[in-house]
This record gives sequence, structure tokens and C-alpha cells, in this order.
Amino acid sequence: MPIKTRFAPSPTGYLHVGGARTALFSWLHARKHGGHFVLRIEDTDLERSTAESINAILEGMTWLGLEYDEGPFYQTDRLDRYNEVIDSLLEQGLAYRCNCTRERLDALREKQMQQKLKPRYDGHCRGAGVSGDEAHVIRFRNPLDGQVIVDDCVRGKVVFNNNELDDLIIRRTDGTPTYNLSVIVDDLDMEITYVIRGDDHLNNTPRQINILTALGKSPPHYAHVPMILGDDGSRLSKRHGAVSVIEYRNQGILPEALLNYLVRLGWSHGDQEIFTLDELVELFDINDVNRSASSFNNEKLLWLNQHYIKNDTPERIARLLSPHMGDLGIDPATGPDLVEVVTAQQERASTLVQMAQISAFFYRDFESFDEKAARKHLKAVALEPLGLVRERLSELADWQPEPLHELVKSVAGDLELKLGKVAQPLRVAVVGRAASPGIDVTLYLVGREACLRRIDMALQYIRLRGQGDDQ
Ligand code: GLU
Repeated sequence: MPIKTRFAPSPTGYLHVGGARTALFSWLHARKHGGHFVLRIEDTDLERSTAESINAILEGMTWLGLEYDEGPFYQTDRLDRYNEVIDSLLEQGLAYRCNCTRERLDALREKQMQQKLKPRYDGHCRGAGVSGDEAHVIRFRNPLDGQVIVDDCVRGKVVFNNNELDDLIIRRTDGTPTYNLSVIVDDLDMEITYVIRGDDHLNNTPRQINILTALGKSPPHYAHVPMILGDDGSRLSKRHGAVSVIEYRNQGILPEALLNYLVRLGWSHGDQEIFTLDELVELFDINDVNRSASSFNNEKLLWLNQHYIKNDTPERIARLLSPHMGDLGIDPATGPDLVEVVTAQQERASTLVQMAQISAFFYRDFESFDEKAARKHLKAVALEPLGLVRERLSELADWQPEPLHELVKSVAGDLELKLGKVAQPLRVAVVGRAASPGIDVTLYLVGREACLRRIDMALQYIRLRGQGDDQ
């Protein structure tokens, strides 16, 4: 059978990084083997599933570029099919009706807990012949003895004893199927050959295998991938920072950086850190995924992101940067070409948000000079070089980086100053702080009008400050 994998999120929240990594592993496994990748939305929990969450999942998948060959399928569209399977299990005596009350189940549980036993249903209604006319759930008749061996690609052989599993509810009183039932029907109907999912589902697997066996089917391959932990060793959650894929996008992370980061959480190839998607498709092997949990390390993600920002084309980075400029209230069309800005800044930012912040000055005046930079560079000694630069800038015929560079050099030469004594005050005057790309490109991109206006602001600032001290 051709390889088929699936990602089957429950739409009860955003697409978090753990889910995204499971999706990536499933996607890679399918791509590697020329198989199909299916997206299935497990939305049978009507109270917790939301349209907003479905959208967030679809948006996250699209942003990451994890395109699916089939789906999205929605479990709520398949309720009749689940009921058909449940009815046939019932007819064959492989499942039975149970009308145990909440009170009885609570008391049973209480008693088992007191006896230090694992709480489980005691099979009370197995032979009771409960009528379909009264309120009931349907339970699967789990084998009473024997073992289920899950031969997991990640975990190896995991053995479960049937006498520790109970008769699982497969249809609730309200007629809706439960997760374990719908998941196996879907995996069967969709011809899934590899179930790759979080290891929080490992305990469900023997139950699912038992139902499959009762239906006369053989189970798919399984790979249960470990959880992602926060830097403190506890399960990754909101209190560790961003956990949703879209939040990372909003923070200016590139999708390929996040994918590269996620794949390395639990999988490695020698000590290689940077992988293109094509390389991953070639090298990734689900059998090599580590069985122990890995911790999320934000710094490493930023390092990878910086790598991808540096090495991509300025055109693509500009396209991705544009909405982040918009978030700052800047329309890049109103100033220098964003591609040129990116070319100047590409080495200087580890996220697109940071790049937007350090590029705002190209498009609008800043409110005040950075205090430390102003104290150091906007002093009385800077009045003369700044004044001379201003004069020459206003007359410069060819506003290009090269002549601008010559101009700054000539001012330093004429005043017998080191280049830095001209360039640094000038930078603080035009940028507002002491860091920017080369002064020539900076002046060129900011444009003549804004440069002159900001130098005037700086001159005035120095004069006002000079009244307060004698520098
Ligand atoms: N819907 C389940 C979840 O989101 C996944 C089920 C599965 O992969 O089998 O946890």
C-alpha cells in the first residue's frame, strides 16, 4: 500500500508548536516516500471545537507550507459512518449497551481508588442485555486477557496487558462517537499507513488496535513522538512565551526557520543544524526520532531565523517585512524602496519585527535622540562638522552612496578630524541612535530632505544643551 500519513488536530485552540512538529514529521514521512499527507480536523467535541481554531490551524499549515494532498476532512461530516461501524460492532456482539448510572460509576471508582486499584469499568453491563430504548452508552468489548504489543517506530515495542484496559465507551448517551472510535474508522477509511502523533496518545493505541482487530483489520504503523518541554523542563505552555505558530509569524520568524528548528527537536543528522526542506525530505527518517522529550530553546530559534534572514533574497524578505512595517504604522510605499532597506539591514536583525523597528527611521522622523548616543555624540564639538556636512549635503548634485561617502570624507579631511568624529554625530542626527548601516547608504536611503531636517534638529539640540553646560 502507498505510504499515507495524516495530521489530525482537534480544533480547540491555536496550532501550537508541538502540533506543528507532529505535522512536519508526518508531512516529511509522506514526502520522503512519495506518499500522501492527509489533514483531518477532529471536531467531534462540539463544545470545545471552534471555527476560529479551524482557521488558525489552516492558516498555520499554509504559512508553514505543509501542503496536504487530501482534506481537510471534518469528522462532523462523517458521523453517519461512525454510527454504521458502531452498529455493526453491536450486531456482532463486539460491543454492548451500558446503562450504568453516574452514581454507580462514581462509587465503583471510589472503591477502586480506596483499594489502590487503577479505576476501570468492571464490565457490569457486559451480559445485561440493556435495551436500546433506554438511555445508554455503547462500550467496546475489550479482550479480557492477552497482550497488545505496539511496535512503535520511535518507542520500540511497548506491551500492554488487556486486563489493564477496560471496556471503552465508543458512543456517548447523546449518540456521538468518541475519539478512539472515530479515529480508527477514519484511519481505516482514509487508508492511513503511518499514524504519527504525540506520545500523549500512546495509551490509546492498544485500545485502537483492539477495535481494529475486532473489525478484522490490521493496524497501521505507529510513531509516537515525545513532547516538547519548556526551558525549565515542564511541558511547553503559554507561560514559556509564544507557543502558537501564528504568534511566531507575528514575531517575525520565517516559516523555514521554525520548520528547521522544529525538526531538530528530537531528530538529528550528525551535527548538521541547517537543512533545506529538500534535504529534510531526503534525510529525515521517522525511525531516527529520539524517544526522549526535548526542550524548546528560543535563542537557537533566533539564531536560525537570523541565518535565514541573512541568506534569503532581499526581495522575499522585503515582501515578508512589509506587514511588520504596517504594524508600526508605516507604508513602505511612502519612502525608500523596501528591497534596498532590506539589503542594508539584512545582517542586522534576527527577526522581521526587529528589522522593522530598526528600519522605521528610513520612513519617518523619530521622536527623540537616544539619550546615551546623544550624550556621547551630539556635543558642541559636533556643531562645526554637522554644519559643514549640512551645507554640502544641500548642494550635492548626485544623491548616491558613493558621492555621499566622499562628501563625509571631505568634511573630515577639511576639518582635520577622524572620519568617526563626523560620521558618528551625523549618524545620531539622522538615525536617532548610534547604530545603522553604513553612513553613505543610510544618508542615501533617508533622502536629502529628511537628512537636512534631522541635522537641523540635532544642531538645535546641541545648542540648547550647550546653554546648560560648557562642552
Ligand atoms: N485529535 C487528536 C489530538 O489533537 C490527535 C489524534 C491522533 O493523532 O490520533 O490530540
